[in-house]
Amino acid sequence: MTECILNEGWEIVADPENADIIVINTCSFIQDAYKESAETITEMRRLKEEGQCKGIVVSGCLPQRYSTTVHTRFPFVDAFLGPDHIMEITNVIKNIMDGQRNIILAGETPSKIFEPSGKRRVVFSQGAYAYLKIAEGCNHFCSFCTIPSIRGRYRSRSIASIVREAENLLSAGFRELNLISQDTFSFGYDTGETITDLLRALSKLGNEFWIRLLYGYPCGLTEELLNVIAESDKICRYFDIPIQHASEKILKLMNRSHTVPFVKNMTERIRKILPNAVIRTTCITGFPGETNKDFEELHKYIIENQFDHLGVFVFSPEKDTKADSLPNRVTREEAEKRREILMLTQHDIMEKKHTSLVGKTDTLLVDSIEEGKRGRIKGRTMRFAPEIDGMVYIKKTNSAIKRGSFVPIIYTKLVDYDMEAEVFYEGRK
Ligand code: SF4
Repeated sequence: MTECILNEGWEIVADPENADIIVINTCSFIQDAYKESAETITEMRRLKEEGQCKGIVVSGCLPQRYSTTVHTRFPFVDAFLGPDHIMEITNVIKNIMDGQRNIILAGETPSKIFEPSGKRRVVFSQGAYAYLKIAEGCNHFCSFCTIPSIRGRYRSRSIASIVREAENLLSAGFRELNLISQDTFSFGYDTGETITDLLRALSKLGNEFWIRLLYGYPCGLTEELLNVIAESDKICRYFDIPIQHASEKILKLMNRSHTVPFVKNMTERIRKILPNAVIRTTCITGFPGETNKDFEELHKYIIENQFDHLGVFVFSPEKDTKADSLPNRVTREEAEKRREILMLTQHDIMEKKHTSLVGKTDTLLVDSIEEGKRGRIKGRTMRFAPEIDGMVYIKKTNSAIKRGSFVPIIYTKLVDYDMEAEVFYEGRK
């Protein structure tokens, strides 16, 4: 989207106070995300009434999910664009500037896949990392999830276009490419290419950089994928695989029945080939029908598998999903209590795992450098994904260290979810 806005001669400003047109890209797959998006849209109304803003455009999942009611919910918004209409943004801006209002381009199930070059893409990143979308949509139809109906069926970009975009991001100074989609392991399912083909192609790019795979569906974790990751020093030994639950009964109710055998021995399979792999997962508490016994099974699984990072979400009943009509609802209070139990357990696991890193060496990718003499250098090692995991901090000692530098470090201390470290010099005692 940013690429075509720039190509049409518009400038992108970070502060909405200075914008002629405010574009709000939204998420709306659960009610909490909808509320957050709705709050932002409502906040922007003031700028249109009082400031220089001449029009508001809302794009993404919210107008797609609520295409028939958005205009009554947000009558002050000038245009709504669903995922398939994002590239029409420049025409829409032109039409708004010409006085047109009430533009709604959303509703039909999305089926397009965009192949941006990334040459003029604006990356809203706080660090040396960028996200690289490799596919869109999802074919899994988990019973609690609205994403397949909002984003459509799974469709992959071509390897050639992803490699082109990766080259442009690397030339622009980004040193970590985070491959994202609703299920990265299924990449190429619809085109005949595969995720391992993509990883091999990206690994051949010249510069020093990292590739990180985010959001893999458990049964896409093949032996070949593990071996390709093991063979390349550019691919983070980092696995982000949401399991959602560990009870067979609940996995079936979630319509993730075919993941049962994959979930059961997932960490074992990864650690057999990559003993030092970092594994992140997410799960849901309070899914309809989750008894104490089911929850205990999940709790036991979390203890036994010792994940490095864990996200726990309370079940969110969403209209138009199968899970919304399932019997035996768990109260919100109980679901939150179960979430809390898992988070406390995970805190102990994390503390033990991260404390054991003290004294070990690693490579830090510098994301940013704080201002002032006493400012610190902030970055991440392969162990920590941007925005969801912790950070690693070192003291500012060497002016040659810049954003995007790779620095050898030795971990010195755990501070909450973050680590402190020092620059590691060969021969250091
Ligand atoms: S795999 Fe993820 S995106 Fe796809 S339906 Fe399941 S939860 Fe939703």
